[in-house]
Amino acid sequence: MLIIGSISIFYKSKQKIINFEETAQAETELNEVVPIEQRYPYVIEPRATFSESLRKLDISPRDIHDIVVAAKPIKDLGRLHPGIRFQILHAPNEIGNLVSIRIKLSPQEVLLVQKELNTWVAEKITKQIQTKVATFRGLVKSSLWESALEAGMNPTIIAELAEIFAWQVDFSREVQVGDRWRLSVEEEFVKGESIGWGSILSAEYINGANTYTAILFRKEKEDMGYFAPDGTSLKRVFLKSPIQYGRISSRFSKRRFHPVLKVARPHNGVDYAAPTGTPIRAVGDGMIAFVGRSGGGGNVITVRHNSTYTTSYKHLSRFAKGLRKGSSVQQGQTIGYVGATGLASGPHLHFEFFVNGRYVDPLSQKFPTAEPIPPDKLVNFLEMKDKFFAYLPDWI
Ligand SMILES: [Zn+2]
Repeated sequence: MLIIGSISIFYKSKQKIINFEETAQAETELNEVVPIEQRYPYVIEPRATFSESLRKLDISPRDIHDIVVAAKPIKDLGRLHPGIRFQILHAPNEIGNLVSIRIKLSPQEVLLVQKELNTWVAEKITKQIQTKVATFRGLVKSSLWESALEAGMNPTIIAELAEIFAWQVDFSREVQVGDRWRLSVEEEFVKGESIGWGSILSAEYINGANTYTAILFRKEKEDMGYFAPDGTSLKRVFLKSPIQYGRISSRFSKRRFHPVLKVARPHNGVDYAAPTGTPIRAVGDGMIAFVGRSGGGGNVITVRHNSTYTTSYKHLSRFAKGLRKGSSVQQGQTIGYVGATGLASGPHLHFEFFVNGRYVDPLSQKFPTAEPIPPDKLVNFLEMKDKFFAYLPDWI
């Protein structure tokens, strides 16, 4: 179900914007009076190049060459795909004297190359995009994805919703039957024709007993991220280090000399030298994905923070009491103690960070910031919040 709310107009691009009238393509009915220069009657044929298509229209090799050269800074016409539509315009009553060519690069972008005083000049024309606010709501009966389909919503939008609330809900594990969601999203139109989806403006998700709300903050047409209604960030930051007073003794490296194995191996984590028994803290909220003995790692704890981030802590002398697989842990909570179990030359913590299942260097990784809305922008944000929140449809 699609409910259109209020209408607003944004300009999507900072490029030169001209209200380019494009009312018809080749499909236009002939009895409708459409100026010839507004049509896109030609198409690059399958397996043909743009130049070949122009040659077939009796355009001179010299003009083709000059057009391609003029367009080069904007678009490499040699790489245009078959199926792209274009139109050519000859001087009035002078067939053979080509004066301009328009190529429809996308629904809102046209490349115009025209002859000015015998020189070919190219410019990109970006058409006005009109946005309307559409709203959707859903109830999870089997999966989140299914609930989007049932709501008649493009499922890519539900993927965006999951991304917005990634720090509140682990959507690959915590979605429950009975969860509900509602959102407002921009739908983009050019000349009344829908061309796709813009940003989610506001969204709410009820997961079990918790309700989470996200509001987009847009500053001078730029999307700055999603925030809770009070202006705090929905993102969380990790602790800088899992050990309060540790010294980094070995950094992340693709290749290093292994002190025990005496061979070069990648070092997929960061080592913190600290005395046996030093407490180890979870660097973020999460759930214990593994706790136990694991080969060269010795005593290992793995914490899953959300569907993107996981951390792992190795060579522990012992675990904190009561931790088991599935336990939830809070940021800063002591989960274990430094040791030298497994393949270790002395007591240290080997700390690993995974992003989407791949090792990253936690010391160089750019993690999301969790800055709230700055105080001087808060009034702005709160106005935006009232407006965007009001777009939300009633709960299903
Ligand atoms: Zn290590």
